[in-house]
Amino acid sequence: AIFSLALSIFLFSCGSKQVETNEEQAFIAELLGKMTLEEKIGQLHQITSQWNMTGPAPEYAQGHEEKLKSGLVGSMLNVIGAEATLNAQKLVVENSRLGIPLIFGYDVIHGYRTMFPVPLGEASSWDPETVKLSASIAALESAAAGLHWTFAPMMDVGRDARWGRVMEGAGEDPYLASLLSAARVRGFQGESLADEKTIAACAKHFAGYAFAESGKDYNNVDISNATLHNVILPPFKASTEAGAATYMNSFNTIQGLPASANEYIQRQLLKGDWGFDGFVVSDWNSIGEMVAHGAAADLKEAAKLAIQAGSDMDMEGNAYTNFLAELVEEGTVDIKIIDDAVRRVLTIKYRLGLFEDPYKYSNKEWEKNTLYSLGNKSAARKVARESIVLLKNEGKKLPINESIKSIAVIGPLADDKDAPLGNWRADAVANSAVSVLEGVKARAGNNVTINYAKGCDLVTSERSFAGEVQFNTTDRSGFAAAVAAAKKSEIVLLAIGEDCYQSGEGRSQADIGLKGLQMELFDAIYAVNPNIVIVLMNGRPLAIPELDAKAPAILETWFLGSEAGNAIADVLFGDHNPSGKLPMTFPRSNGQIPIYYNHMNTGRPGPKNEVFWSHYTDQTNAPLYPFGFGLSYTDFEYTNLTVDSSNPASIQVSVSLKNTGSVTGTEVVQLYIRDKIASLVRPVKELKGFQKVTLKSGESKDLTFVLTEKELGFYDNDGKYKVEDGEFEVMVGTNSADLLNATFLLNTATVQ
Ligand code: BGC
Repeated sequence: AIFSLALSIFLFSCGSKQVETNEEQAFIAELLGKMTLEEKIGQLHQITSQWNMTGPAPEYAQGHEEKLKSGLVGSMLNVIGAEATLNAQKLVVENSRLGIPLIFGYDVIHGYRTMFPVPLGEASSWDPETVKLSASIAALESAAAGLHWTFAPMMDVGRDARWGRVMEGAGEDPYLASLLSAARVRGFQGESLADEKTIAACAKHFAGYAFAESGKDYNNVDISNATLHNVILPPFKASTEAGAATYMNSFNTIQGLPASANEYIQRQLLKGDWGFDGFVVSDWNSIGEMVAHGAAADLKEAAKLAIQAGSDMDMEGNAYTNFLAELVEEGTVDIKIIDDAVRRVLTIKYRLGLFEDPYKYSNKEWEKNTLYSLGNKSAARKVARESIVLLKNEGKKLPINESIKSIAVIGPLADDKDAPLGNWRADAVANSAVSVLEGVKARAGNNVTINYAKGCDLVTSERSFAGEVQFNTTDRSGFAAAVAAAKKSEIVLLAIGEDCYQSGEGRSQADIGLKGLQMELFDAIYAVNPNIVIVLMNGRPLAIPELDAKAPAILETWFLGSEAGNAIADVLFGDHNPSGKLPMTFPRSNGQIPIYYNHMNTGRPGPKNEVFWSHYTDQTNAPLYPFGFGLSYTDFEYTNLTVDSSNPASIQVSVSLKNTGSVTGTEVVQLYIRDKIASLVRPVKELKGFQKVTLKSGESKDLTFVLTEKELGFYDNDGKYKVEDGEFEVMVGTNSADLLNATFLLNTATVQ
């Protein structure tokens, strides 16, 4: 009966969204009316399983089958593949009283089978369309593998590179992160959740997770309200506006309260002010963790606080399933709160079309034809190229000159077919990426001699998501071969950086320099052939001042995914002119962290011939590479910055850009503002616009940016948005540290 009702609603053709919503909610209300309290709580319970639901269950999955058949589970995570999802869905739909389908969730962070660059890498493209493309293919592959829902995008604005999860985000800037997170949501969800080629997105981690004190994962977060509203929340708000179907809260406390118990951000802001009508899932047992935080006496109290605060679904915890019924029956938790949470979960299931056809995503034939298709791989190569950042190119070492006939390819990551897949790799096949060596060989062709040597291992531990990472600090036995390869080659490509499991969840580091013997290997090679191009692979900014001082050329390639080697070769040989820009500041040392471009001034901002200004006595305040930095094979010149503020509702900023180099290139033109005097101290710079422009050699273009109320205001400590009149500085240029500037007066009284 449920399915036929759903079908009639589905077939009901009407132009009005309101009518659709009414039909949807009528269907859900009717269903809710039939559910027992136990069945309702089941919808709020999410369990994990990697068991494909046939044959004997492994120990951790004992009891799953019974629970599923009884309709006491609403969602599963980590069940992947058309077959396993079909089996699990059948257990529920065919056996439970009401047959309410499961929603299958999984961490599809940067691709499902075809891997794309890690999100921090993709953010270097500064291109919402690129990010959207990658998310849409990840969604297509996931859907074909039976999944409905990804736990992405992570939109935590991060300022601390010690925190290993910066690789999953869009970097340090709220404006860029807002645009890219919203694009990622659109990529995953497409035009409609009902489209079977899309999946539901999950805005995470709500909120503040990246501000963990000292960059240590799961640590507490203590920030001002102004920082919460101006820095942390904007990407979430933008993603809600883009239609993000679900949210995930976070492990951390924020201002003393665990996020799972934060009624203000979950109920008042998200579900209230922002009008979010999807559901919030907890992070993995984050409700249970409230006990260890000391915020709840026991799991029962944790369940009460979390559900009251608007945490709708309990991920892999037993707080809800064990205690919600008791809490309702004794009158502590109002049934209306449970009903609202269940309604939200059912709403997303409805929008996914699961009531119409619970098996629509689980199709083995479709799965086979979709995963890792040629088209998906070619998109991965395109996105990977856009994500590469040229950090240094002294003496124009790059692109590699066609006259070069011998290239040494060296380094622990040079022929690694696994590292480019990065962390959080969903269903990628281990060792399936194109390595740097393979990419270079394929592009260089038979007339160029490639001399490969590994040099040394980076880690001595087995690669795994959760094991400790141990670095090789003793075995130099490969150095001699590496030095010999360098000696007989005209140019050296040295692939070094991080192990792919060095960045990610639980992967905080006190030291973000180059690990193990890598710098030593560099020095040994440099002594015989200083003509070195560094191919960096990493998931976070690295503090590498020594490498920067010595190596003539450095290419930041992050973990680029399945097509890494090909994309890197495209850039090395000049088939693609790099245009990536850093989404996060690279510090010179660990001691500079947190370091980010959009900081406030102190009362002692600059040197005045005395020591009492805000600085270190042993190091400059300047980063190694600033936010927004990235070179090209051509050069760009900025001139004629002008501001027309005659209409304060639409301030026009114009600049001329010229390609003064010898090849076509793409530049990300960046616009920053500073509100010079305000009722709350404002950052010295804030990104408020950018344009990606391609110009031929010698070509010029006049660009115009428009600043409105949306860009010129800020949130105060009460979360109120304000635009204040007065003097503003506007800055335009190639990165956050190299800008033309002008000023204007904002006088909103003269709005036309
Ligand atoms: C992570 C989440 C992730 C979840 C499910 C947690 O440990 O913090 O980001 O989505 O696990 O795998």
